[in-house]
Amino acid sequence: CHASTATNDTSLRKDYLPVHGVSEVIVGVLGGGQLGRMLCQAASEMAIKVMVLDPLVNCPASSIAYDHMVGSFDDSETVHEFAKRCAVLTVEIEHVDVATMEKLEQQGVDCQPKASTIRIIQDKYLQKVHFSRHGIPLPDFMKIDDLEGAKRAGDLFGYPLMFKSRRLAYDGCGNAVAKNEEELTSAVNGRMFYTEVQFLKKLVSHLGLTTLVFLYAIDEQQFTLGGFARGLYVEKWTPFVKELAVIVGRGRDNSISCYPVVETIHKENICHVVKAPAHVPWKIREHAIDIAHKAVSSLEGAGVFAVELFLTKDGQVLLNEVAPRTHNSGHHTIESCYTSQFEQHLRAVLGLPLGDPSMKTPAAIMYNLLGEDEGEPGFHLAHQLIGRALNIQGTAVHWYDKPEMRKQRKMGHITIVGSSVGIVEAQLKSMLKEEGSETQ
Ligand code: ATP
Ligand code: MG
Ligand code: MG
Repeated sequence: CHASTATNDTSLRKDYLPVHGVSEVIVGVLGGGQLGRMLCQAASEMAIKVMVLDPLVNCPASSIAYDHMVGSFDDSETVHEFAKRCAVLTVEIEHVDVATMEKLEQQGVDCQPKASTIRIIQDKYLQKVHFSRHGIPLPDFMKIDDLEGAKRAGDLFGYPLMFKSRRLAYDGCGNAVAKNEEELTSAVNGRMFYTEVQFLKKLVSHLGLTTLVFLYAIDEQQFTLGGFARGLYVEKWTPFVKELAVIVGRGRDNSISCYPVVETIHKENICHVVKAPAHVPWKIREHAIDIAHKAVSSLEGAGVFAVELFLTKDGQVLLNEVAPRTHNSGHHTIESCYTSQFEQHLRAVLGLPLGDPSMKTPAAIMYNLLGEDEGEPGFHLAHQLIGRALNIQGTAVHWYDKPEMRKQRKMGHITIVGSSVGIVEAQLKSMLKEEGSETQ
């Protein structure tokens, strides 16, 4: 094997085991969910060692990672310990302890993307402020601190009005819509409930359930802090005709490489289907790529980024949000592009040349396997669908091996590639049409 072509930056430490792969360094990933798992799969092709930090002993990445440290990616001491064992630190989730990342960077730890990027993106309001300062088109937005502020936003932006949690949002958990002024309070209360659940979850993972119950008993007030106290903002409702996304790879030398624009279709705020390439006019694709390029250029550090966009009826493209990591809208790239988003991320953080993001098949469609039921019945339904998928030409089944089946949980995905958009859509239809016919 050839020696590493990684830059000096990635060789900051000498206390890793020497290995003879494409790169000699160990890549540390904060988080070991499905994205971490697919990073490990791409890494194994090049004998790159990926180590993950995740609190779950049997997290999706654990069985294939080079190493798995069991611990919280949101805990300072644990992240410090983990970083000592890796040459470059990256993320599969943005909800990590960014203050620790900043400290680590000051001590010379190589974080990619940079902690400054994670800090901006973790707070969706700060993210919006950042991108608007960089001249990127966005839906109108406004920070709100109380009900009066929410009413002012309603008067200004009209209804429906989108409320968003600044932090810890994913799969639409953190969003609430007020259809009119009367619904303002319930939208805000919805947020309050959500943020409190997140807060409780965090406490449970840090302190354990017994301590939590004790704390609850002595400080009930802690839990009555409202949604406003924890941070909310509002966005003008965007009546989009399509949602688009662009995966962008950014090298350590700041080279930028964009994947073809895709269309994402959400079901109850969760990404459900991705169509690649997006069926939109060439000018719109160019515009979307331009915005994605500009957005990622405004951030610091290497890696793969996902840029979520809205396409409006009058042909405007607006940025919804950016993820500083691999993304669900890029899963199709494993089968349909010369370099998958996961390989691209590894290449980027290691300082290797970026690969070719273009599609090697004319069309691809990705279908998320979302939990349809809890426990065994849910597994049964998913396995029925997988059984049908395996009989369809051009399909690849990915199962994340999550220990628990829950409703709406991302359990796996199926990608279908083919010679035209029409063909892959027809294949997907035939896979889904039979749904239920086999159930007794
Ligand atoms: P994830 O990180 O999983 O993509 P999230 O919790 O960060 O999701 P958003 O991306 O902000 O949530 O929103 C989820 C979905 O809600 C979007 O994909 C879109 O369908 C819808 N949505 C978000 N903002 C608006 C808006 N301003 N107007 C209309 N619909 C919106
Ligand atoms: Mg998000
Ligand atoms: Mg989103």
